[in-house]
Parts: sequence; C-alpha cells; structure tokens
Amino acid sequence: MAKRDFYEILGVAKNASDDEIKKAYRKLAMKYHPDRNPDSKGAEDKFKEAKEAYEMLSDSQKREAYDRFGHAGVDPNMGGGGGGAGFAGAGGFSDAFGDIFGDIFGGGAGRSRGGAQVYRGADLRYNLDISLEQAANGFDTTIRVPSWDGCDTCNGSGAKPGTSPTTCGTCGGHGQVRMQQGFFSIQQTCPKCHGTGKVIPDPCNTCSGSGRIKRNKTLEVKIPSGIDDSMRIRSTGNGEPGMNGGPPGDLYVEIHIKPHAVFQRDGDDLHCEMPISFARAAIGGEIEVPTLSGKVSFTVPEGTQTGKTFRLRGKGIKGVRSGFPGDLFCHVLIETPVKLTEKQKDLLREFETLTDAGGAKHSPQSKSWMDKVKDFFE
Ligand SMILES: [Zn+2]
Ligand SMILES: [Zn+2]
Repeated sequence: MAKRDFYEILGVAKNASDDEIKKAYRKLAMKYHPDRNPDSKGAEDKFKEAKEAYEMLSDSQKREAYDRFGHAGVDPNMGGGGGGAGFAGAGGFSDAFGDIFGDIFGGGAGRSRGGAQVYRGADLRYNLDISLEQAANGFDTTIRVPSWDGCDTCNGSGAKPGTSPTTCGTCGGHGQVRMQQGFFSIQQTCPKCHGTGKVIPDPCNTCSGSGRIKRNKTLEVKIPSGIDDSMRIRSTGNGEPGMNGGPPGDLYVEIHIKPHAVFQRDGDDLHCEMPISFARAAIGGEIEVPTLSGKVSFTVPEGTQTGKTFRLRGKGIKGVRSGFPGDLFCHVLIETPVKLTEKQKDLLREFETLTDAGGAKHSPQSKSWMDKVKDFFE
C-alpha cells in the first residue's frame, strides 16, 4: 500500500509550525485513541498513523529529511514500490548531503581496527529532467556522475612517492583527542588528522594528499513508469567514498518533469483543455482527444457548455506506487469564432434572430441571468 503523506495525515500545511503540528496530532490522538474506540481496528490504524506522522514531523532533523526525500523516493534497487528501508529507520538521515555523514560505522563505537574513526561517504544528488511521456512510460538512461579512484601516483596513501604518512602527534595515532570543557572532558575527533591517526608531511602532488582522484563515470538508471515529479531514485553506494574505510554514500537521482504542451499532471490523473467550436458544442458530434497513448475518438453530446469536464477513465498515468492508471479529464472550452467573413456574419445574424425568437428555450442560462438582473433593479 502507498504510504500517506505525513502532512496530509495530520491535516497541516507543509510549512506548519511545530505548535500547529502538535495541536493537530493531539486532536487526532484524542479522536482515535484506542481507549475511546475499543474494538475499532480502523481507529487503531488511524491512531498509529497519526503517531508515526507526529514522531517524524516533530523531530526537526527527521522532518527536514522527510521534506527532502518523502517516504523514501522510489528505489528500483530495492525492488520497486515503497522501497526506502534505508530511510524508514530514521537513524540514517541526519545530513544526507552534508560533507560528512553524522553516522559512524564499523564495530567498536565507530573505530576501525587501526583506531581511527570511520565515516560513511556523503550522499549525492543528481537532478534529471524528463518529459511527461518518459515519466509515464518509464525508460532507461545513462547519467554522468562523479566517482573517485585511488590515486596511481601514491597508491592511495596520499604521500609523495618515497615518503610515507607518519603517526599524528596531536592524538598519538588514536584519531581522537580529549578536550576539557568546564567540568567535562569530552572526546573529539582529532582536528589535525581528522580521525585518521596519521598525517602526511609530504603530500602527493597528483591527489593533494587525499589519496584519490575525482573522475566521472557513466551510470545506467532505470526510470520506472509512472514516476512523479520530485521523486528520487536511490543508487546504493554511488555517492562519495567513505573516510578511513567507511562505506560510500548513496546517489539520489531526483526527477524533474518538464511542463507538457497539452497535459497537466495531478498525481496519476491528467488534465487537458479541449477547445471546441460553438457550433460543434451546440450540435454535438465526434471529436478526437489526445491521450499519452495516442488519439481517441469521443462523442460530445448536443448542447455541451463551456467548463464541462469529460472524464476518460484509465487514460491517465499508471502510478509508480499505486500501480493503477489514473484518469484523463478533458475540460471543454467553447471557442468564439474570430475573423469572420461577411457571409459568416450574416448567417450568424440570421441564426441569432431565430434563437432570440425561441427565447429561453435555446439559452436557459441567459434567460435566468436576465431575470436575476431585472429583479435586482426592481
Ligand atoms: Zn590526530
Ligand atoms: Zn596521490
């Protein structure tokens, strides 16, 4: 099942204040609390849903991450659908695009065997512009993303050939230093060696001592059909490399759908304007309507008014989460004819005289409007 939007669950705006979120949650919690609704599975689910939404949105870090990624983005690597196990466990979020991930990996309180701290690499984002058709049908594409290789000159050590890194004097190779702050003594990553426990007195010229070189690589990305604007696809392990042997970050491909000349998308539904001549609208008849999968014929009934909406079921987009096609809504726009010839005008004048003679029969809206205007002045 598709997971509902947390803001929607709580019924608050995306920019709601902490206070508004708290109030909205309290209201729902009171309403759906299991004590008040014994034996109601529906209420219990609603209660749990609201609780989860509140827990996410009341934590500023989780909220920020949710605003950026939604429930997880869609992740073909995770087997499609909701994906996102990596996000659901909120611990993984902290600062996805920051320089260094807050999380510390590896056993023994984040210390590698050498004693230095290891860090997960930063996540990267890639903005991908696609057309509405590509979003609807899905497609495979390749993107160029940064990647890092070990430096050949120094074999990844970061030290100029012939020299080697030395043990950091500040931390004695531990990667950590103790700092006295008031009454407290806190342990910190060594500012000199940044936790590596080593310093490079003579850095390699090729990589400036980092031990790696930034290159570009080509990645194949599968865009699933039905993907929507601002959804993200995760490519695991294709972010920046970790530090001191930490795992790499992930790459997120963020989808941006370009505006379409004919259709506007609303979730899995499509909308389009359908200008028809006033003669066609009056007489009725068959017209052709564009859909993403080609034209379809469609009969407009006699006496169709402007603003009338026709719904073509299943002609929308098959949602990446729902798996069901949405609908296409065609909004009728009666077009007043322009640049008429004298003959056309004469015919219309004649037509007008005949319809006027028929009174309210032919134009019920004008008649009732005129009546209202008359009443207003009397
Ligand atoms: Zn150090
Ligand atoms: Zn190097």
